[in-house]
Amino acid sequence: MMDDPKQLQSADGSARLSIVIPAFNEQGNLRELYAVLLPVLSGLSMSWEIIFSDDGSLDGTWREIAELHRQDRRVKGVRLSRNFGHQYALMAGLAHARGDAVISMDADLQHPADIIPELIKEWRSGCKVVHTRRLDPPNISLLKKWSSDLFYHIFSLLSGVHMESGMADFRLLDRQVLDEILQFREEGLFLRGIVQWVGYERTIVTYQCQERFSGTSKYTLRKMIKFAWTGITSFSVIPLRLGIYLGAITSILAFAAMIYAIYTRLFTNTAVQGWASGLSIVSFLFGILFILLGLLGEYVGQILIEVRRRPRFLVNELIGMKDESAEGEL
Ligand code: UDP
Ligand code: MG
Repeated sequence: MMDDPKQLQSADGSARLSIVIPAFNEQGNLRELYAVLLPVLSGLSMSWEIIFSDDGSLDGTWREIAELHRQDRRVKGVRLSRNFGHQYALMAGLAHARGDAVISMDADLQHPADIIPELIKEWRSGCKVVHTRRLDPPNISLLKKWSSDLFYHIFSLLSGVHMESGMADFRLLDRQVLDEILQFREEGLFLRGIVQWVGYERTIVTYQCQERFSGTSKYTLRKMIKFAWTGITSFSVIPLRLGIYLGAITSILAFAAMIYAIYTRLFTNTAVQGWASGLSIVSFLFGILFILLGLLGEYVGQILIEVRRRPRFLVNELIGMKDESAEGEL
């Protein structure tokens, strides 16, 4: 009843749009999201597809995607072989998108579908990347706001890539930019940094964040810390220089203390007191040394992961794709 799934081109050759949605245990959200997207997408003079990327869900997410595809062939699915993480699920979906413009958004309805026409308008006026920025809901916790502001501030400082708090993976990419991004083979994937890094004509659209429709956040604290750390290590080596600065400062201080000890011994004929303070300073410096060693280890580990060149994710199954074997492996 719908478009031929093998052709995203509309009969009149108008532009094509892909919506890419990573989903991990989002069974309760997909049908509602489809219902919200349908009128918005139908109002655009474009042919479109919705690609759900199932990140190894344990609930009925994949069944739901298959059911939606049966109803509407423009709904398609990529199913990863296990839970690889949001960034990889997003990448898998993007790799299968056929649109001239591709919008990525979350599955939980926190990203409002009704700003899609605005994103398209910006794209039509020549922007190749249309970012979105979340306006914080009035009830956001100060801790969440401050930690997010602090992270993006540190990230921008360390990487030289400007990022603002509230810019998540809800954005439009032009086909040209997407093709460039698909060439990035790094394992430590931090798409929101990469999208800033690549440049091109860009703009930002703001939106009011909605409540999650059903279920709970799939970003555990552990996943969030890992994500933030990947962001920093994949974009900056400045933390590695920390040792040089700290080493220089402590050497200068230690040298001054040494001169002071010799001076006291020679000219006042008394020895500098304080084993306890000496010991605590040494222990403190040892602590710093181990932290720096750990930091070094993190970067070495990251190199090991990168040189292994394993595929970043494995695709188990596809639904509704034109060439079902083409881009499964990245
Ligand atoms: N997600 C995913 N794999 C994961 C974690 C999350 O595909 O391992 C998806 C999730 O289904 C959602 C999006 O990433 O569509 C954002 O996750 P979530 O809404 O839980 O994050 P939050 O909005 O709480 O930061
Ligand atoms: Mg969410």
